[in-house]
Amino acid sequence: MRGLGLCLAAVAACAAVPGLSQPPANDLCAGAIPLFPGVQRTMSTARATSSGDPRPLCVGAAANGIWYTFQPPADGLVTVSTCGSDFDTVLQVYTGQCDSLTPLPEGCNDDNGPACPGPQASVRFYAESNTVYRILAGGRQGQTGNLRILATFLERSPNDLCADAIPLVPGLLQTMNTSGATSLGDPRPSCASTTSNGVWYTFMPPTDGVVTLSTCGSDFDTVLQVYTGDCQSLTPVVDGCNNNDGPACAGRQASVRFYGGSNEVYRILVAGAGGQTGKLEIQATLQEPMPHDFCAGALTPHLELLDGGSAEGIGGAEQHVFALSFELIRELADELGAAVGASRAAVDAGWISYAHQVGQTGKTVCPRIYIACGISGAVQHQVGMRSSDIIIAINKDPHAPIFSIATHGFVGDLLEVVPALTKRIRQMRGAPTVCTV
Ligand SMILES: Cc1cc2nc3c(=O)[nH]c(=O)nc-3n(C[C@H](O)[C@H](O)[C@H](O)COP(=O)(O)OP(=O)(O)OC[C@H]3O[C@@H](n4cnc5c(N)ncnc54)[C@H](O)[C@@H]3O)c2cc1C
Repeated sequence: MRGLGLCLAAVAACAAVPGLSQPPANDLCAGAIPLFPGVQRTMSTARATSSGDPRPLCVGAAANGIWYTFQPPADGLVTVSTCGSDFDTVLQVYTGQCDSLTPLPEGCNDDNGPACPGPQASVRFYAESNTVYRILAGGRQGQTGNLRILATFLERSPNDLCADAIPLVPGLLQTMNTSGATSLGDPRPSCASTTSNGVWYTFMPPTDGVVTLSTCGSDFDTVLQVYTGDCQSLTPVVDGCNNNDGPACAGRQASVRFYGGSNEVYRILVAGAGGQTGKLEIQATLQEPMPHDFCAGALTPHLELLDGGSAEGIGGAEQHVFALSFELIRELADELGAAVGASRAAVDAGWISYAHQVGQTGKTVCPRIYIACGISGAVQHQVGMRSSDIIIAINKDPHAPIFSIATHGFVGDLLEVVPALTKRIRQMRGAPTVCTV
């Protein structure tokens, strides 16, 4: 009798502990418990069932799920993590009602999610403030245990979308943290394969000139792409994309330089390489053409003579040709009182110093006459000279791109054309027309 009494008492005691043998209150979607930003919840899933649980998109088998909801206070990035749980978890986030759930593809994770490595799931997705997100947290292959779940929220960057771009003022450094940036509507920059989390700026040069955009002081790996056009029809600017080692600084922080027009709105996407975010420092500077470089303002003849040719693999005979080319070009320049510029190829080959380099990573010039001798006309070179009033191209290749921007062209060997030109100018020397070149 005494033993039976004890046993009954034990049964009664068991029955009196609420929920010990019952599934948790949030075992079903309808009983989901709300999560609040930054507030961690802990719960045992030991008694959870799989009743009514849909199969997550990213795994074949997950079971014993319990449900939570999260409604963000504003549009932004939500991270849901089960980091710190003592079993192998799976997460799937849904929108819609419990009887018509729509899974978010980026809302499913089994292992190694964005918040922590290992078997504890975490997800990060872009969320809208007026939406209730329903979160199913289950166990991989039926595992259960102590679940730790936490939702955090990061409000979207104010210039996350092209339409919300922030204007840059010449010379003024702007700083922001891009961790609230998404990739919504961001085009892929042409010079980098994996970028995301872009923010947007605009720049309207107050005058024509060389625009330099730099992210040099940023603490993450940036990518820059500049566009013209409106946000619905963006056109990439030539020379407007950079990932690493741009013209303003070496390293992982992007910078670009291009010739900008005063009547143009440039739209600038700054993204993170490989999805990186961090402290962004961005600055636009404008270098106006030197007064004597204004074609209309030139008072004296000002001529740029260019020599070129590839630096690579120059043999003895070719070296001789290069030396002769330079000699002939300098002779012509002396005759005209002109300055001698060069392509990067010529600078790299050591024929002339960097101070003479014209182009994207060199000087921008705008003389009245620019004679391009043996210059292919690469875009990086064009950016430094295409605003010249008159461009005369001498090239033995009739398809050289320089001819597409040339006012006059000579298809021929510069070793013949340049001395002929010098000779002709000498013949005309003293005639008043020469001085009005
Ligand atoms: C990030 C970056 C920045 C750059 N910045 C610059 C820059 O600031 N400035 C710059 O110039 N480049 C720059 N470049 C390099 C640029 O892309 C080209 O490689 C360079 O401009 C080519 O120089 P080139 O035309 O002299 O040589 P090549 O491309 O080798 O062309 C030589 C040309 O000479 C012609 N030619 C050869 N022999 C004769 C002859 N006897 N008579 C007549 N024609 C002849 C050939 O038909 C050919 O068209 C940059 C590149 C990069 C990636």
